Parts: sequence; structure tokens; C-alpha cells
Amino acid sequence: MRSAAVVSAWRREVLVLAVWLAAWTLIGAAFGYALWAAFSGLAVYLLMHLAYTNRLHRWLVNDDREPPEGLGVWQDIFVEFNRLKQRNRKRKKRLKSIVNEFQASTAALPDGAVVLDGQGRIVWFNQAAAALVGLRAPQDLGQRIANLVRHPRFSTLINAPDAQPGEVEVPSPISEHGILMLRIIPYGNGQRLLIARDVSEQKRMEATRRDFVANASHELRTPLTVLRGYLEMMEEETGKAGALEQWQAPVREMGQQALRMSRIIESLLRLARVEAEGLQQRQEVVDMAALIERLVADARRRDTAGLRFETELQAGLSLFGRPGELESVAGNLIANAVQYTPAGGEIAVRWWLEADTVNLSVSDTGIGIDQRHLPRLTERFYRVDAARSTATGGTGLGLAIVKHCLEHHEAELSVDSEPGVGSTFICRFPRQRAHVANAA
Ligand code: ADP
Repeated sequence: MRSAAVVSAWRREVLVLAVWLAAWTLIGAAFGYALWAAFSGLAVYLLMHLAYTNRLHRWLVNDDREPPEGLGVWQDIFVEFNRLKQRNRKRKKRLKSIVNEFQASTAALPDGAVVLDGQGRIVWFNQAAAALVGLRAPQDLGQRIANLVRHPRFSTLINAPDAQPGEVEVPSPISEHGILMLRIIPYGNGQRLLIARDVSEQKRMEATRRDFVANASHELRTPLTVLRGYLEMMEEETGKAGALEQWQAPVREMGQQALRMSRIIESLLRLARVEAEGLQQRQEVVDMAALIERLVADARRRDTAGLRFETELQAGLSLFGRPGELESVAGNLIANAVQYTPAGGEIAVRWWLEADTVNLSVSDTGIGIDQRHLPRLTERFYRVDAARSTATGGTGLGLAIVKHCLEHHEAELSVDSEPGVGSTFICRFPRQRAHVANAA
């Protein structure tokens, strides 16, 4: 439709030019100067177009609202340009309001947001980022974020070769006791979004809870030891024939329950210790094969159910980590395998290197675990069969301890199990932690 209008406008223009030239030529011919007159007509026509082009140019440059008036095809051109100009103006206005809205909403976010380019330089940040990370506009725009947030954990994350998503906790760069959770989200073409969240309060609450559990457990330990001492004495006394004999069973039961409470308290204290000081503990190269051999030998010595133990340990393969925690991991997994495997069963412990991981696995031919329990197994006090766990001296804290210790080693726990067939617990440590002894 529009293109048809264009064609007819130009047809009209050509017609006008033809009539114009014919008129000039005819008038010129009357005086014997037909060619000159035609040239003059053409020149006048050209001048008119030049004048209109100039008007158009000036109008485009000086943001005048009203379009200039024109004759013939120029009127159409001015109208068309005006329409484009207005559409552009509207689009600009809409974009501006979208940007304003976006900025207002991100400014209202409680989390800091920082847009980083491919080189990790700051492109934009919101008010919360200024408050949490201490960024200043405009000085910090264009600066590398790694130069402003200086922490080894953050540097490792931000300098990872191919922009990886990830999060790290770092001390706040602007407040002494603050803790920030920094999260990197890659997007687009190498750009990254950094989200900063203040987790100081959350960490403080966690620490308070941890301290409370640790203190309460610690306070309970001494009175319980006293009780157990007296109960042992009473058990001896009631064991003798006489008036106290009827108290023998209740006292024994009390003794067993007191022992159970002691175990829970010891596990809670152990868990609190792992949580509180785990990362501060010194790391060293731990000879895992020797550690596992020792734990398996202990288990074999204590075994009364005729279990068969098997080990398959890669020689010379050690792990860089915290010895106490690694012993807890292997010890708990082996103890569970023993605890949940009926007489005559088999327990196999393996330790080997793979392309990206170093693995520890503990398999048993025990009672197994139903699939629906697997996701919750490492929760505190989660037991598949509470009665059975209690009867065998379990506290429901073993795997929670394992999980925490593994987290401190960036390792993952996976469980494969089938009821009635057996279970396999595999810990996968990052390959960087492997220490392979030289063959020489
Ligand atoms: P517990 O002290 O009760 O053994 P854990 O945290 O070590 O507590 O384990 C949690 C639960 O997971 C146990 O109660 C048990 O039901 C189940 N479980 C752990 N290891 C095994 C295993 N090797 N075979 C079967 N069930 C297991």
C-alpha cells in the first residue's frame, strides 16, 4: 500500500519534471534558445532540490519538532522522516523507562549485584553492592573486581579459566566481623554477574547454635560420667544374690541407656568440633592406605559376627587433608558397614585414583537402604530404622559427621544401596588433593 503511494508520487514527480522542462524548452524555442532554456529549467529544478535537501539536513540536525513544508515528493519525504523520528523518540522513551525501572528495582534489591565484562572488570553495580562490597562510582567502574575484593578463595573463583558459576564466603572488605557470600553467574558472551549477600547474621546464628549444642553436650558429660560410675557399682551389687536382686534388670537397663547418652554426647561434641574448627585444622599428606588398613584391622579384631574383610588399596596413593577428619570418614563408614551387615557378610574397602577424583569406597553385603531414605541419610539423627540403630549402638550422627568432614575436603558422598543386597558408600575427593608417591 505504502510502496504503491511511493511509486505514484515519483511518477507524478517525473511528470512534473517533464512538463517543467517542456515548458522551458518551448518558451526558449520561441526565442531561438531551446537548448539553453532546457538547461536553465534543469538548473532551477536542481536548485530547488538542493534547497530541500539542505532544509531536510538542518531539520534532522536541529531537533525541531515540526517538519519543514515541501513541494511534491519532498512533502512525502518530510512526512516519512517525521514519522520515523517520532517512532524513534517513542522507542527511546520506552527504553529509557525500562532502564529506569530496571535500575530502580535492582537498586531496591537487598543483594549487591555487579555486572562484570569478559575480563572481570566492573561494568555496573547497584547501591547494595556499593554498601556491601564498598564499590564507588564512578572510580571503580572499569576496575577489575579481583583488585577490589582481595581474597584467595574469590581470586580462584573469578580467575577460573572458563567462567564457571560458583560461590564463596569471604570476610567483608568493609566491616571487621562481616561475612559475605559472593556468587558468580556467567551469562551472555563471557560476561558475569556477581551477587553479594551479607551472611554475617546467618553465620552468627549458626555459630550460636553450634556453641549451644557444644556447651550443652559438654555440661552433660560430667554428670553423666558420675551417674555411669554409680550405675556400674550398683550393677555389681545387684548382681549378688540377696534383697537387691530384683533391681538387677532395671539397673542394667539404666546403665545401657546412660551409655547410649554418653555416645550421643560424644558424637555431638565431635560434630560440633568438626563444624567449628574443621577448616582451621592443619592439613598434611595422609597415607590413606595405612589409615584404612589400621581401621580395618581394628574392625576385624572387634568383629564377633564372622564378617569377611577385604581391602583393595592403591599403593603410594595419599591424600592431602586433615588426618583427624579423614579418619572419622573412613572409621564411620566402616563402623556402619559392620553395624548393618549380618553375620557371615562381606565388607570391602577400596581406595583408588581416577581421572578427576580420588575415591574411597566402603561396600557391604548388609541389610541395604531403601532408595527413599538416601537423600536424608546425612541429616543429624536420621535413622532408617531407629530401633535397630539404637540396639546396635548407633546415634544417627555418624553420617552427618562424615558429610561435614567431606565438605571440608571439597569431596562428595554418594550412596548406592539395595535392600537385602548391600550398600556402597563412595567418597570422591578432588584429584588436586591426590598425592601419588614417585615410583622411585
Ligand atoms: P547411626 O549411628 O544410626 O548408624 P549414621 O548417621 O551413621 O547413624 O547412619 C544413619 C542411618 O543410615 C543409619 O541409622 C542406618 O539406618 C543407615 N545406614 C548407614 N550406613 C548403613 C549401611 N552400611 N547399611 C545400611 N544402612 C546404613
